[in-house]
Amino acid sequence: GRKFVVGGNWKMNGTKSQINEILSFLKTGPLNSNTEVIIGVPAVYLDYVQSNSPANVHVAAQNCYKAEKGAFTGETSPAMLKDIGVNWVILGHSERRQIFGESDELVADKVAFALSSGLKVIACIGETLDEREAGKTEAVVFRQTQAIANKIKDWSNVVIAYEPVWAIGTGKTATPAQAQEVHKSLRDWFAKNISKEVADSIRIQYGGSVTGANCQELGSQPDIDGFLVGGASLKPEFVNIVNARQ
Ligand code: 13P
Repeated sequence: GRKFVVGGNWKMNGTKSQINEILSFLKTGPLNSNTEVIIGVPAVYLDYVQSNSPANVHVAAQNCYKAEKGAFTGETSPAMLKDIGVNWVILGHSERRQIFGESDELVADKVAFALSSGLKVIACIGETLDEREAGKTEAVVFRQTQAIANKIKDWSNVVIAYEPVWAIGTGKTATPAQAQEVHKSLRDWFAKNISKEVADSIRIQYGGSVTGANCQELGSQPDIDGFLVGGASLKPEFVNIVNARQ
């Protein structure tokens, strides 16, 4: 079985006092021990959160660069994350791709470098509304996944987050059937292009307007192995999302 995995992507949100409130509801939980919980924290707060979060909550960076150190002003390296005890990173988020111009190839390079540095990766993929309406959803998510497949061999430390861009921060959640359809296609893609073993074991999260109200129905789909949650991860309802699958 694939362990259910729920990530909270705080994006560029939070002050120290808000973060203390989040840590407090995470400590109170209770968080289902059958679910792996990962919070994606702004870089400036990573060390603080890593030191102050409960042991059953893993901490992720929201980005990192593809080099160990050097003249890359403003960037964070996987080695720095490891140095403060952070073992996860979110890469290829649609906001990184769209706002900061990260290409499929750069995202793939970052994924490969992070894995080779010993980090675990949540690799994000997903189509825009235009792409969906043009019937290109599968082509886009396969292309984004293939770019990563070109650069890595071992998928055991990778979680895929399928996040349709039109569902992110819009309140327009994909229906459970829409999400399941893409997750199933992705799993079939892995079986055909990587291996049956990877297809069976890789966890595919759904992201995009996940809430306490819609998480149970989404989480009961056979190929949805967890969530990547934005806005609702800042609120106590995140605990309910973590516990969506009992
Ligand atoms: P929302 O849950 O706010 O739609 O954000 C989803 C997301 O982008 C998580 O990475």
